[in-house]
Amino acid sequence: MRTAIVTGGGSGIGLAIAEKFVLSGIRTVIIGRDEQKLSAAKELLGDMCITIVADLNDLNKLPEVVTNITNTIGNIDILVNNAGINMKKEFTEVTDEDFQKIILTNVTAVFALSREVVKHMLQNNIKGSIINISSMASQYGIPKVIAYTASKSAIEGMTRAMATELSPKGIRVNCIAPGFIATAMSAKALNNDPERKAKALGRTPMGYLGEPADIGEAALFLAGEGAKYITGTVLPVDGGNSIGF
Ligand code: NDP
Repeated sequence: MRTAIVTGGGSGIGLAIAEKFVLSGIRTVIIGRDEQKLSAAKELLGDMCITIVADLNDLNKLPEVVTNITNTIGNIDILVNNAGINMKKEFTEVTDEDFQKIILTNVTAVFALSREVVKHMLQNNIKGSIINISSMASQYGIPKVIAYTASKSAIEGMTRAMATELSPKGIRVNCIAPGFIATAMSAKALNNDPERKAKALGRTPMGYLGEPADIGEAALFLAGEGAKYITGTVLPVDGGNSIGF
């Protein structure tokens, strides 16, 4: 049986990825800070779902998180770096602390967790799959999300660098760039800003927000045998938003 880690698997896109994995027979460890959110997800997903309460910003604790998983559950085959935070603010209002906070969660923690999981995969000769989550913010310019844009652009570069270095060793690394997907995060960014919502939908040829499950399907594909010759890619799952006029 394959085992996956999905960070931020207690809600939104991460929960949909975890659900897809569990339904496909992949034992799935979901990580988040909010115990209640994780418990609710476990109730939904059942025994194939294991929850771990951890703050990914505590970089020093990440090696222990990975060791605990490998000691108690076994090998890790799939890592989905889904946890992320956003912040909508005018460029000049963003403090250095704001900027660093987003980079810490969306970039540094992704690197640090990936490094620990990759060490484990290499030591155990695992043909692994790592999936990072980017955003339309790195496909084109979006105002008022400077730190988020920097972080997601970094994720796409890191995906290519990781793929180049790790694919020869049997670990594929890919990235999904979700378009506008109906979750708590997008509701916060769009629902009190009708102009922005109209703009997002106006350039989405399919004309509606995506569902978290749409990202789940893409993650399952990239994690599996069907994608065995795919590495270093960024796959938009966006109803055409990234190519829309
Ligand atoms: P949510 O806010 O619903 O989910 C984010 C998840 O990340 C939460 O479960 C949260 O768990 C977890 N998380 C955040 N910070 C930490 C941390 N420090 N340690 C552990 N877990 C953390 O957002 P979405 O589902 O919408 O977003 C998921 C990913 O998809 C993000 O990377 C986002 O940037 C990306 N994305 C989303 C889009 C959308 O339209 N919704 C579009 C493009 C990209 P907890 O609160 O328990 O810590």
